[in-house]
Amino acid sequence: MAYKSEPIVACIGLGSNLGDRVAHLRSAVNAIQHLGASMSVSSVYESEPFGVGDDEQPIYLNMAVSIQTKLAPEQLLAELLDIERANGRVRLRRNEARTLDLDILMFGEHLIETSALTVPHPRMHERAFVMLPLAEIAPHMVHPVLQRTVSEIAASLPDQGVRRIGSLDAAPAQIPFTNPV
Ligand code: ADP
Ligand code: MG
Repeated sequence: MAYKSEPIVACIGLGSNLGDRVAHLRSAVNAIQHLGASMSVSSVYESEPFGVGDDEQPIYLNMAVSIQTKLAPEQLLAELLDIERANGRVRLRRNEARTLDLDILMFGEHLIETSALTVPHPRMHERAFVMLPLAEIAPHMVHPVLQRTVSEIAASLPDQGVRRIGSLDAAPAQIPFTNPV
């Protein structure tokens, strides 16, 4: 079911801090590839978890991808939730450790506000673990609420200790957990 005849560039944020994190990211990137064309894939970044129960949570791996898709935003979200479930995602508490989190960051310059979907993602612009990978693949894309480019927003963020660790292709099958402090 096509949304529009012209594809829209959708940016998706990926995160994993449970299980074989690299395998979950790889599996997600492979699956997202089938949702459109001309996918761009960022490097992988490491970040400390925040939210509730941080102490117990392992380090996150984050990345971003963009894809030109003809899916409607709700269809894209449904596909992403399926991919999360296929990677063993269960939801019990907010901000808990997760095998895979897939968020729609931007959908072209569309503004979407429904009970199921808020786009642009309301907290993306504050988060270095979102904006740094996104700035690699979509630096000139304009955030339709802030009216600033992705690279401007990324450059304006304070240091949040987010570290680029390399490309997904080069990543070893398992990156050993570092001890979260
Ligand atoms: P979070 O990503 O905030 O930690 P979840 O991954 O558990 O939380 O997402 C819960 C719900 O958030 C999803 O089922 C979806 O309906 C909703 N949601 C709202 N906006 C978005 C968005 N831009 N991308 C992904 N999910 C979203
Ligand atoms: Mg999510």
